Amino acid sequence: MFESSPISYWRKQKEIFCLQGLKCITCSKIYFPKNYLCKCGSDNFEPIILSGMGKLLSFTKINLPPAEFSNMSPYIIGLIELAEGPVIISQLADIDDIKDLKIGMTVKAVFRKYYSIGKEKIINYGLKFELI
Ligand SMILES: [Zn+2]
Repeated sequence: MFESSPISYWRKQKEIFCLQGLKCITCSKIYFPKNYLCKCGSDNFEPIILSGMGKLLSFTKINLPPAEFSNMSPYIIGLIELAEGPVIISQLADIDDIKDLKIGMTVKAVFRKYYSIGKEKIINYGLKFELI
């Protein structure tokens, strides 16, 4: 979950920090990030806080990251299927060697520093995933 604007970051803090998605009231499909029209055709949703648990579907090492993440390079990102169904891409925390990872491993969301921006060095925090 990458947000470059502090205002956008502030507005989406519940989504970013709490893994708040939407659940279709008609068919129960869960969306994260939010989607405003379900595959069933309904636009009737309720907010849902996701568990933060997931399964690692794939992963890769990033050697040339966007400028904001250059101080973390290299780092590892994973394709994660959340326990409630949505699939997201997120940075994996506390992994020193990609050889320690296997597809299907269980991961959970953790709160970590992303990067700092501007001359004031405002620190942005968000969720990453770690092995359990
Ligand atoms: Zn639906």
